[in-house]
Amino acid sequence: MGKLGKVDFVPFSKVDGIEERLKEGKISATRCKKCKNIYLPPRMDCPECLDEEMEWVDCEGKGTLVTYTTIHAAPAGFEDDVPYTICLVDVEGGGRLVGWLDGKEEDLKIGMGVSIGIRDLPEERMIYSITLE
Ligand SMILES: [Zn+2]
Repeated sequence: MGKLGKVDFVPFSKVDGIEERLKEGKISATRCKKCKNIYLPPRMDCPECLDEEMEWVDCEGKGTLVTYTTIHAAPAGFEDDVPYTICLVDVEGGGRLVGWLDGKEEDLKIGMGVSIGIRDLPEERMIYSITLE
């Protein structure tokens, strides 16, 4: 079971080694050894060529804001956290992920550069956090 997110909000169940990497503060993607596509959030099978030979690549943790939304009515498991803002980010080097904004929604602009980090949550869970550059 993946621990990224309070509920299984990102499908990490097939990804071995992700928790260890997150604990080290690494933003890690996987790369298909065959077609070289990069996946972030990481996955262990390639949807392009259906290959399962993946390798880890560490990212710089930089990206571009694609869109964002502020959640006022939370899904199960997030009731205590509303309102919160989630961001969709195109990651430099490949991949696209969802993270929680660590900052003010008013400061966001689509297309701006952001940094991707990792935030610890209770019960040893973790989530991607998005900060403004
Ligand atoms: Zn592939």
